[in-house]
Amino acid sequence: EGVVYDVVVIGSGGAGLSAAIQAHDEGANVVIIEQMPTIGGNTVKASVGMNAAGTIYQKLKGIDDNAQLFFDESLKGGQFKNDQELLRSFVDSAPLAIEWLADHGIELCDITITGGMSIDRTHRPGDRSAVGGYLISGLVKNIVSRQIEVLLDTKVIEILTENNEICGVRVEDEYNEQTIIKAKSIVVATGGFSANKKMVLEYRPELDGFVTTNHKGANGSGISLLQKLGSGVVDLKEIQIHPTVEQTTSYLISESIRGGGAILVSQAGRRFYNEMETRDKVSAAIIELPEKTAWILFDDQIRSNNKAADEYIEQGFVQQAPTLEALAKKINIDIKALQPTIDKFNQAVSIQHDEEFGRATALRVPIEKGPFYAILIAPGIHHTMGGVTIDTDATVLKTNRRPIRGVWAAGEVTGGIHGANRIGGNAVADIVIFGIKAGRQAAIYAQNKR
Ligand code: ADP
Repeated sequence: EGVVYDVVVIGSGGAGLSAAIQAHDEGANVVIIEQMPTIGGNTVKASVGMNAAGTIYQKLKGIDDNAQLFFDESLKGGQFKNDQELLRSFVDSAPLAIEWLADHGIELCDITITGGMSIDRTHRPGDRSAVGGYLISGLVKNIVSRQIEVLLDTKVIEILTENNEICGVRVEDEYNEQTIIKAKSIVVATGGFSANKKMVLEYRPELDGFVTTNHKGANGSGISLLQKLGSGVVDLKEIQIHPTVEQTTSYLISESIRGGGAILVSQAGRRFYNEMETRDKVSAAIIELPEKTAWILFDDQIRSNNKAADEYIEQGFVQQAPTLEALAKKINIDIKALQPTIDKFNQAVSIQHDEEFGRATALRVPIEKGPFYAILIAPGIHHTMGGVTIDTDATVLKTNRRPIRGVWAAGEVTGGIHGANRIGGNAVADIVIFGIKAGRQAAIYAQNKR
């Protein structure tokens, strides 16, 4: 008779890896099960950073911020549909999660901003690169040093119970071979369902035809696994489209490009909206344009402050030219329209006041230093705010809000924290904060069953 694990973690994204590390450090015997051939989930694609208010890194930079302001802005961004108890716990735990990461060798010490926030609170790696790859490789180092087992190409198809107690999972490998893995407790960290077209269209038929930024594994399987145990669900209709997605590659153009000072212009050569508004609103403004696409435009100074920009250039979809006029010609925009747009924006930067569109943040630098760059973008399906119901300890709740014993859930598989629209930088915070909680609770539960 094989081993009985203390904790099975389903999913190897940021939430699963954080949970596994924490559970291990609480003394639990842990295994991570991942359906894909690689580790990291959709988290590896996370671009902009991790939001937290009142961190040591903000203090070092003289940024005055607090949990209440972070709470208020996330609630407004979520159209006041957020579960306020979860959101409160989220903002309060965020600085601790930043420190937990630092203690694990993952330093998010540079800071930028995303749409809907009023203060630089989006923490990213010191070299200003995308957060996802850095976070996952840092977490994986911790998994390896602890010798935590990871089963790849292994899909959980059922959570098993015996006498109303969790007893393990049924898995299927890449050869469709099924086996049972025994465990005392389970963390479900299976991510969202942005890549499950059928499920997306079931809740939002009007999203037919939209590309998705997500990896193939974002299929929402965790929701049905937990619903079979009686879990409640919330906000499944709340699906976020991200405004700036390159359409030929489905590459997400990080909000940090706008956060670094870039603007959006229409084919008519005009700005049309506050680029630093929340994702739902910016997406809607693009869809309202006759062409339903827009150009994200930046200069060489903005490029040099963002490692992601160089990655986009390498991908081959960035239009560039030594002068604004040459760029305009290349992207078929009338320079007579574009030049006054840029002049007006640069004026707004110089007086730190955007009369026309009310952009109050990221008026960082004038767009004036060649080469100039443009990327054609349109919205794409990016994040599913809804999911299973949890409490502030990541306990999975039934429809009557009573806990399901022995199961915890964290990350995009859960719903409630983000309401109707997630703020950029809040997903990475979510997965680390609730991943740690889920791992801790699952380990304690398993120990009490020994
Ligand atoms: P989060 O950001 O919440 O951590 P991610 O999308 O980064 O979520 O990671 C979730 C991971 O869970 C993905 O790698 C996905 O392939 C994996 N996963 C989803 N469903 C299953 C399943 N039924 N069995 C095993 N792994 C799964």
